[in-house]
Amino acid sequence: MRIGAHVDSADPLDEATLRQADTVQFFLADPQGWKPPEPRADADRLRAAEVDVYIHAPYVINVATLNNRIRIPSRKLLIEHANAAATVGARGLVVHGGHVNKGDDLAKGFDNWRKTFAYAAESGGFATPVLIENTAGGDNACARRFDSLARLWDAVGEYGVGFCLDTCHAHAGGEDLLDIVDRVKAITGRIDLIHANDSKDGFDSGRDRHDNLGQGNIDPDLVVAVIRAAGAPVVVETPGGAEGQRADIAYLRERVSGEQHAGGRGRA
Ligand SMILES: [Zn+2]
Repeated sequence: MRIGAHVDSADPLDEATLRQADTVQFFLADPQGWKPPEPRADADRLRAAEVDVYIHAPYVINVATLNNRIRIPSRKLLIEHANAAATVGARGLVVHGGHVNKGDDLAKGFDNWRKTFAYAAESGGFATPVLIENTAGGDNACARRFDSLARLWDAVGEYGVGFCLDTCHAHAGGEDLLDIVDRVKAITGRIDLIHANDSKDGFDSGRDRHDNLGQGNIDPDLVVAVIRAAGAPVVVETPGGAEGQRADIAYLRERVSGEQHAGGRGRA
């Protein structure tokens, strides 16, 4: 079972060591900005590392929107990130499901997703597998509620798209974690990565505030059950820096696979 954390991008391998993580996720560029990724001096080290690497695309990317001034640069930035992620040997590029603006037709948003993959396929496809992540909020989201997720997959499924399940986003987005793996797999056929996060907010709150496992609104046993059922690698995107995340990782290792590690919280 591979378990790691979302870490600062300056020295991800050092951050992995601090957390006893065998998987890391990080940003290749400002998550709130439109600048393309810069080449990394540690690309060879990352590619050769025992630690598995995932890249999270910037939050500004929204390939679903009908707004050309967001959608076109979003598609470009996503392709640039997939290319840059390949240089560090990333196993996946996580991108949020996106949304359309109020009053816009969600069907066009799903079709914009399809066009994104169709366009990339013309030049051989994305250089890194794209993993679409479920999101917590909004009434016009493509991947918050699973009725929408099913429509999204009808549009993009033929391109072999991956899926990243975030437990905080599911809970806050109004999708019950009980049996969620079966419900996702019935739609996507796959779960490539789990973002194991607790939620500071209640079920269906629509708010996206992560918490350390067992500290928020989600029963940590449910998170463990989701991970076991999915059998996918895990990344925690939780607060508390190296110490907080190391404790979350140790907790999951102990609970998911029965391994004993120092630094756990000893939760019953
Ligand atoms: Zn996430």
